[in-house]
Formats: sequence, structure tokens, C-alpha cells
Amino acid sequence: MADNRIYNFNAGPAALPLSVLEEIQDSFLDFRGSGMSITEVSHRSKWFDDVINDAVERIKRVLNLDDRFQVLFLQGGASMQFCMIPMNFLTEGKHADYVNTGTWSAKAIKEARIQGKTIQVVASSEDKNFSYIPENIAFSEGAAYVHVTSNNTIKGTQWAEFPDTGGVPLIADMSSDILSRTFDADKFGLFYAGAQKNMGPAGVCTVIVRDDFLKMVPENIPTMLKYSTFAAKNSMFNTPPCFAVYAVQLVLKWLEESVGGLEKMEALNREKAEMLYGVIDESGFYSGTAAQGSRSVMNVTFRLPDEDLEKSFIQKALENGFGGLKGHRSVGGCRASIYNPTPLKAIGALCDFMQAFERKNG
Ligand SMILES: *Cc1c(COP(=O)(O)O)cnc(C)c1O
Repeated sequence: MADNRIYNFNAGPAALPLSVLEEIQDSFLDFRGSGMSITEVSHRSKWFDDVINDAVERIKRVLNLDDRFQVLFLQGGASMQFCMIPMNFLTEGKHADYVNTGTWSAKAIKEARIQGKTIQVVASSEDKNFSYIPENIAFSEGAAYVHVTSNNTIKGTQWAEFPDTGGVPLIADMSSDILSRTFDADKFGLFYAGAQKNMGPAGVCTVIVRDDFLKMVPENIPTMLKYSTFAAKNSMFNTPPCFAVYAVQLVLKWLEESVGGLEKMEALNREKAEMLYGVIDESGFYSGTAAQGSRSVMNVTFRLPDEDLEKSFIQKALENGFGGLKGHRSVGGCRASIYNPTPLKAIGALCDFMQAFERKNG
């Protein structure tokens, strides 16, 4: 059945584990003996309750979260969080710090400013085209939170370690690296991820929020834009994106039961990234665009000697069964997104292809 599947390096929506897709296919017409598809059962049914509760439990277990944290499944994508975060947590007299590491950070900053919220951009890597993660940041006094983008999907940079904020809670956009590595959730008031990069299909955004942050939510904002609305109703104030939540549940099950947990996943992800960066660094033909030390383990961005070669590389790659290697339209170049589901075998095959392309064209 799966013989004609390509090696998928898309940035998002992105590759899902084949076993997850097969499980969806197998259960699609008759979900767990209900006689209905998961897309047909009520979100108020026991069937869906089991799905969402299991997904929440698995996220808490995988990320080692204590009971102060609530897991929410929202619609509107990661982009909706850009407006919800300042709306919920920057009430009268409060301010926040933001770090600008590229397109997605800039959008988060814009949505806070649109609302007239007081935010300060305490660090930016714009001076070098967002090719690095800033260090030694001077955070402001008494900020409600510090917002960072943990992995910069477009520029291919990633925080190797989260900054020391002197105790101010972090809020992170983890859309493209959630569930890829372990981290200490204690430092966070909230973190969020559109599922379509590393945890499922498009249509749901996972938000993990700490109870003291939930208490800050003011009354006088729209119901649908309040985190507390969804926290009080186990993400079912209104109809949740049932199918997407179901797929997320299966991806989590795969991560725990097939991969063997987050530490194993992280080790595998590092191995994958090292292989690919190794090929880039050894060649005089490919060059990585992110600074050493700031390189993303998830999105490997690189250039070829000129744009014609890049075009031909992407074209030849496609002919050989490697999809999604074109860089984001705003930056050009090439990008291999190697999220959790991308198997080591796919990286090996890509490395071989890249070396062969270099021999021919270098
Ligand atoms: C893709 C992406 C987004 C946008 O996600 P949507 O779910 O489409 O809103 C935001 N932040 C980062 C880091 C991303 O990679």
C-alpha cells in the first residue's frame, strides 16, 4: 500500500508516522466498535472522552508535567496564541519581554502591539538575518513573562537551552520542536504548538498552561479567547477538532510505545541532525545558514553555490523521491524538516543523494 510514499521533508503540515496513518485508516469507518468514524462520533460521547483524556495524560507523562499544568486543545493555530497570550496575561499595568528570532517571533510581537500592550523586545538577531540565537539578554524588571520561539522553522535556528530569565516565567512557541527533546517545564507559564509540525495533522493547537497563569485571565475578554474557558471544560467549551485530537493521541502513543519515550526520541533526533549537518559541513558545496551553536535539530537550512543549482537540486531531489526541500518562500535556499516521524533511513537516503548531487555538480 505504501510503496509510492515519498521521503517527506515538508515543514508543516509534515510527515506523520506511517503506523499512525495506517491505524487511522484501519479504524476510520468503525472507530473502536462504535459503528461510526471518529469524524462521526459526538464530542460528548465516551468514545471521544477517552481519546482526549488519553491524549492529555500522555502529554503530561511524556513531558513530565506536574498537576499545576493543564493541557488544552484549541483551534486557530499557533497564530491565535500570538493574540491570546497578551490578551490573557497583560492586564492593566503589566508588561512582557519578547525575544525576536525571526518571522514567527515578529508576528507574536506584532499581535501584542496591535492591542496596545506594553512589551519590550529585549533581544533580536535581526542584525545577522536571524541566523543565531541571542545570548546574555538583559531582561526587564518585573515582566509578567518572557516570550521566545523555541525553534525557528524558517531560519533553522533553535534555542539549545532556554535563557535564564531570573525567575520570570517563560512562554514559548514550540510549534516546530515540541516533543522533540526533554526540557524543564518548571520555567514555563505556558507553551504552545500548532500540531501540524511535530505532533499531528493541522487543525489543533496544543497549549500547556500553568494554574497561576490561568488565574491571571481577566473577565472582560471574549469567551472564546480566554484560556480559562477551555481549561474549565477540558477543551470542550465548544466542538473541539475531534479528528486532529485523535491523530495527536495516536502520535503520542507511537512516541511512547514504538519509539520508547522522549529521551529516545531526542537521541534519535540528534543523530539525524548530526548526520545531515555532517554532510553539509564536510562539503565545500552545501553551506548551512544557521550559526554553529544555534542550529536547529528539526529544520536544517542550507544553500548551494547559486540559485540555479538550488533549483536543479530541488527538482532532481523530487524526481528521486525526496519532497519538501525548498526553503521557505521568504528566505529561499533549501530546508530539510526532519521532525520526529522522519526515520533515520530517510536521512541516510537524503545524505546519499546530496553527496551524489555534489559529485555531479560540484
Ligand atoms: C508554523 C508555525 C507557526 C504558525 O502556526 P499556525 O498553526 O499555522 O498558526 C507559528 N510558530 C512557529 C514556530 C511555526 O513553525
